[in-house]
Amino acid sequence: MSNSTYYAQECPTCGRKLQVRVKYLGKNVVCQHCSATFVAMDPASVVDPSDSGTSILDRAEQLIEAATRSGIGLSQLGLR
Ligand SMILES: [Zn+2]
Repeated sequence: MSNSTYYAQECPTCGRKLQVRVKYLGKNVVCQHCSATFVAMDPASVVDPSDSGTSILDRAEQLIEAATRSGIGLSQLGLR
């Protein structure tokens, strides 16, 4: 993976979208708009309670589908 991969994160101070280098995850970064300092966070690890139920179900369906396609079968997942 390249060190120049970016992800989008909102600045907690000014609320504007920033392009943060993935290699800065967990480190202090400076907002290019308001110069505030904050810790870069992986957006995938941020849980939104308003829709986490749906996304967990979606994720489970994807896993089951992938397992079925790869020939593991539902019985080995303990689902029947
Ligand atoms: Zn900012």
